[in-house]
Amino acid sequence: MIRDLISLIYPSVCINCNISLIQAERLICTKCKIDLPHTGDSFHSESELLKKFSHNASVKAAASLLYFHQKGVAQKLLHKLKYEGKRSIGVFLGEEFADKLMDIPLDFIIPVPIHKAKKRKRGYNQSTEIAKGISSKRPIEIREDIVKRNFSTASQTRKSKVKRWHNLENVYSQANDIIEGKKVLVIDDVITTGATVGMLCDRLQEKEVSEIYVGSIARGH
Ligand SMILES: [Zn+2]
Repeated sequence: MIRDLISLIYPSVCINCNISLIQAERLICTKCKIDLPHTGDSFHSESELLKKFSHNASVKAAASLLYFHQKGVAQKLLHKLKYEGKRSIGVFLGEEFADKLMDIPLDFIIPVPIHKAKKRKRGYNQSTEIAKGISSKRPIEIREDIVKRNFSTASQTRKSKVKRWHNLENVYSQANDIIEGKKVLVIDDVITTGATVGMLCDRLQEKEVSEIYVGSIARGH
């Protein structure tokens, strides 16, 4: 009853279409949830995304939950997660993503780290919120101490493209030795070129990780 009263005063609305939610719905209305642009990617078959990591033999599979379109629903959700403090969206999307993992044995979930200045400003890493949603469905340890992000790409935009590419090599610190022989899921919010998350995977391979699975909430076509 209290919840109903609260929702009368502060009605919760769908994060996509702003329609009032009924009690069984969380964050997103049933219609918008059905209409989400699912990729159909699976960790059990070769996806388009996996091709971006073909240089790294440790990467066994890659899958994204949704397609990313300009002004599309995935962009809208991730924008709210990153810039409007809506951490619960990350947890929700992580729960949705968890279904893809099914029977894959994993030791750790590694959220793609953001630079500490960015984290301080935002108050959290959006990929960690996604990881929390995944581990609520599959109890896998989340490790944020595996690699560190050395700088943000925003500080790189004034440099030439070639220089930026060379700099990418050092975007992440050396990985923690603890990953040797482990099976890990690297989770990101959105993957476009795959270059930065690819560098992260290379750091893990240097420390003889056993298997890497790359996941993201959204990706391009
Ligand atoms: Zn809706």
